[in-house]
Amino acid sequence: MLERTLVLVKPDGVQRSLTGEIISRFEKAGLKIVGMKMAWADRKFAEEHYSAHKGKAFYKSLVGFLTEGPVVAMVLEGLHAVDVVRKLTGATEPRTAAPGTIRGDYAHHSYEYTDKKGIPIKNLIHASGDRKDAEKEIKLWFTLKEMHSYKSVHDVHVL
Ligand code: AMP
Repeated sequence: MLERTLVLVKPDGVQRSLTGEIISRFEKAGLKIVGMKMAWADRKFAEEHYSAHKGKAFYKSLVGFLTEGPVVAMVLEGLHAVDVVRKLTGATEPRTAAPGTIRGDYAHHSYEYTDKKGIPIKNLIHASGDRKDAEKEIKLWFTLKEMHSYKSVHDVHVL
């Protein structure tokens, strides 16, 4: 049940100075940060990260969006961390993301608008979709040396 998952504060989140707010949401839910860094993905790296979407209509613009500025990448650990992080993040489209979620509270972009304009949807965060994706994505973004096991208050109140 104790899982690790990958979260990226995407370039729009970094550029809007929402990094701290976003990290804080996850910390307050009791998730432990076990790895974190700022990184600027190049095209090849972004293509690898989004390889599951290759061939889809939005793939090219998605890759372009991820490479347009630095991201803050982190590995979060906690019980059912993959699902819990997806829940806190909210639905992919900010327009329909529930209030109380990060995307619902801090963004409002819609597919209707972005499809018409041919631009990527600005939804602040990437969060691994399932445990298999999390394992693959953590390996892509972090080395073992960049992740840390340590005691935190969560070990008392969560585990
Ligand atoms: P996912 O791996 O499912 O989180 O999707 C990765 C990213 O692809 C999302 O965060 C969006 O930025 C983008 N995306 C997913 N579905 C669509 C779509 N239907 N139209 C445009 N962008 C999308």
